[in-house]
Amino acid sequence: TFKKAERIQSLPPQFFASLTAKVQEVIKEGHDVINLGQGNPDQPTPPHIVESLMEAAQSPINHKYAPFRGLDSFKEAIAAFYKREYGVDVSPEDEVAVLFGGKAGLVELPQCILNPGDTVLVPDPGYPDYLSGVSLADGRMVMMPLKEENHFLPEYGAISERDSREAKLMFLNYPNNPTGAVASRKFFEETVSFAKKHDICVVHDFAYGGIGFDGKKPSSFLETEGAKDTGIEIYTLSKTYNMAGWRVGFAVGNKSVIDAVNILQDHLYVSLFGAIQEAAVTALLGPQKCVEELVETYEARRETLIGGLKEIGWDVKAPAGSFFAWLKVPSGFSSVEFADFLLEKTKVVVAPGAGFGEYGEGYVRAGLLTSNERLKEAIRRIGNLQLFEK
Ligand code: PLP
Repeated sequence: TFKKAERIQSLPPQFFASLTAKVQEVIKEGHDVINLGQGNPDQPTPPHIVESLMEAAQSPINHKYAPFRGLDSFKEAIAAFYKREYGVDVSPEDEVAVLFGGKAGLVELPQCILNPGDTVLVPDPGYPDYLSGVSLADGRMVMMPLKEENHFLPEYGAISERDSREAKLMFLNYPNNPTGAVASRKFFEETVSFAKKHDICVVHDFAYGGIGFDGKKPSSFLETEGAKDTGIEIYTLSKTYNMAGWRVGFAVGNKSVIDAVNILQDHLYVSLFGAIQEAAVTALLGPQKCVEELVETYEARRETLIGGLKEIGWDVKAPAGSFFAWLKVPSGFSSVEFADFLLEKTKVVVAPGAGFGEYGEGYVRAGLLTSNERLKEAIRRIGNLQLFEK
């Protein structure tokens, strides 16, 4: 056996791998588990997108290596999508990078921007893979607490002068995983001015860009004036089009950052399967009714879950976007203890907030990724515990 490189040894533990193992044990024992702990969309990809893949897969041109930096048709579709959805102009030639899903881009970005020891601002709680990318690039992490009293937005004024000055990169993510918060235009304006002042590259993770509730469409970071001078946005087809298994996404924005991503990727891969790129064009430019229906489905589930939990006396707030609800743990439990307790007593799985960072403690995350019937059953089981005073 070979000793693992230090960079592998120093990667943060995959917190959710142990949760998955625990859940598998309970399933093996024959229990009826309701898993609200994971983030895997439960619905299939819309059929017209699958058909487009099947047709494109027949085409011998797609059996060859696709062009290194992606099909022109895909990059043009990305630009048209940003124009249509957000009124933002991006140049398909040099402001778009094709990605193997959002995660790949998020992990690549620190390699593109950081030298060892450089400082990165990371939201806490947050999607754990930001930490993985920064750790692989030997960055120095400075956590930005996302507190409920600030609508789960970071406070730039609370970041020390030194950390602000030294920061090279900042991750943001709205609609937010895990809190379900959505950012205002005003917040993005503050972000641009903070980033410009300190010369920080902003990476806005827009994975849940397609999922906003109450008729409010989440804003793209690039809609803000000057945003392209200060960073990029990462989009994925995983959530908006139920294409998580396809591994397709893209980065748009600042030319120099996009160039760095493209150069790194020239050395890591050849581009995605051409047929997947062609199907992605169909997703972005084809009928968008599927997205409307998706949002309606999640919104109905949100009503079921949040309404139901309130009825059993749990004081919870509804998410404004994403497909997660961020629920305050009843007093007397840590987030891990409460998640374990629910699993043991009700076979309902939620993700403990501590897995998303120090400031995730005190919450659990529940996904809207199962049917209304199953959500109702989960509420019924939790209600039977009589944890909450009514
Ligand atoms: N960013 C956030 C906040 C996510 O929750 C996810 C997936 O769960 C991703 C990025 C990555 O998605 P993908 O790699 O499927 O594009």
